[in-house]
Amino acid sequence: MAVSDELKPGPCPFCGSDKTAVCGGPSLVDPDTPQFYVECNGNRKQCAALGPDATTEAEAIARWNAAGQIQKFWKEQSEWSQQTFGADSDRGPIGPLKHLEKEAREAYEAAPENRALEIVDCLFLSFDAARRHGLTLGGLVELCFTKLAINRSREWPKNLPPDSAVEHYRTNAEGRQG
Ligand SMILES: [Zn+2]
Repeated sequence: MAVSDELKPGPCPFCGSDKTAVCGGPSLVDPDTPQFYVECNGNRKQCAALGPDATTEAEAIARWNAAGQIQKFWKEQSEWSQQTFGADSDRGPIGPLKHLEKEAREAYEAAPENRALEIVDCLFLSFDAARRHGLTLGGLVELCFTKLAINRSREWPKNLPPDSAVEHYRTNAEGRQG
C-alpha cells in the first residue's frame, strides 16, 4: 500500500462507498486519551459502518484500511475458491485440512526466501476450511479472540530449541485435545 493511501481512509468494505472520514477526538471517559475511528457516510448515511478505535487519526485510518483489505480478500478468495473447486456446501472442510498438512511441510522445508508464499498457501487453506465449516469472517475473528484468551490462560514450556513445535502443558484429562 502506498504511503498516500495510509493518510486517508479507503472505501467502505460493507457498502463500497468512498464517503469515509475520520471522526472522534478527546475521549469523554478519559480526556487525556483521544479516541479516533473511521465512519462511513455512504449509501445516504444508511451504512454508518464504524472502524476500530485508535488513539491517533493515522492509526484509526490504518486499522480501517487493514480491516477493509481483510474483508476484500476473504470475499475474493471465497469467490475464486468456489469457482475453481466447487461450492462450499459440496466440498466440506476435510479436503483443505488434509492439503494443509502437505503445505505446512512445504512451508517449513522451503528456502527462507520462498517461505512467505508457502505460508500464504497455508492461510488460503485455513480460510477454505473455516468457510466450508460455516464460519463467517466475523465469526472466525471472534473465535480467534476466544482461543487467544484460552491460550493466555495456559502454561507453555520455555527455552525449547527454535525449530521445535511448542505445545502447552496438558492435564491428563485434556489428553491431546486443543
Ligand atoms: Zn458503508
